[in-house]
Amino acid sequence: MIFIPVFGPALIFYVLDYLTLIIIIPGFLFALWAQYRVKSSFAKYSKIPNARGITGAEAARKILSQANVYGVSVIPCRGNLTDNFNPKTGTINLSENVFGTPSVAAVGIAAHETGHAIQKAKNYFPMKIRSILVPVTKIGSYAALPLALIGIVIEWLAEASGNFGTALIALGIFLYSLSAVFALITLPVELNASKRARRMLLSTGILTAEETKRAGKVLSAAALTYVAGLTVSLLYLLRFIIIILSLRRNRR
Ligand SMILES: [Zn+2]
Repeated sequence: MIFIPVFGPALIFYVLDYLTLIIIIPGFLFALWAQYRVKSSFAKYSKIPNARGITGAEAARKILSQANVYGVSVIPCRGNLTDNFNPKTGTINLSENVFGTPSVAAVGIAAHETGHAIQKAKNYFPMKIRSILVPVTKIGSYAALPLALIGIVIEWLAEASGNFGTALIALGIFLYSLSAVFALITLPVELNASKRARRMLLSTGILTAEETKRAGKVLSAAALTYVAGLTVSLLYLLRFIIIILSLRRNRR
């Protein structure tokens, strides 16, 4: 029976790993529902042409010039709902159903991505923090678990250096929590891009007030996916903390 204390903690980790996955399920379902909402509202308003027959690409270019933002190019990209603004290359990439489509939905999505380009041009503060967090979060998510596990082992092995072990565990949890911080800072960035989009669609006269309301429905559905993203990352953090604290208790 001597192998049990040796393999015990590892076994506990695997059991916990499966058990705690249950925590993620509600967030996962929420994310699926949010994704479904985006797809269905996009499909619905893709079928409705805007009164002036303006395509996504035309809307983006018009908003850029109205906002006096230069050096940003609007180019087509593959896929469905793959639209994005790349701050590194300074390009607004619009998907197949957005770039050349004169629908209410296409113009709404294009205006949202243009909103990100304007955020960058105007040095919108939350966007700056977000871009700083990208590499930090990546490193953090890799280092979190090893650091916390080393901390547990140190606490376990040496009473004297227990404080150092505890500090490592705390650091591991902090690094893991950066993903949730990243998801949190994404929210104002996304909501602000949609707010700019709605305002610009109206002020440039690309859409009528009624059309802007409809385009706004697609954007609100998209915003919900970021709320779901935050929920999922908070649940992952909770799961991480439960696993680390249980391992710590079991090793003592
Ligand atoms: Zn966005």
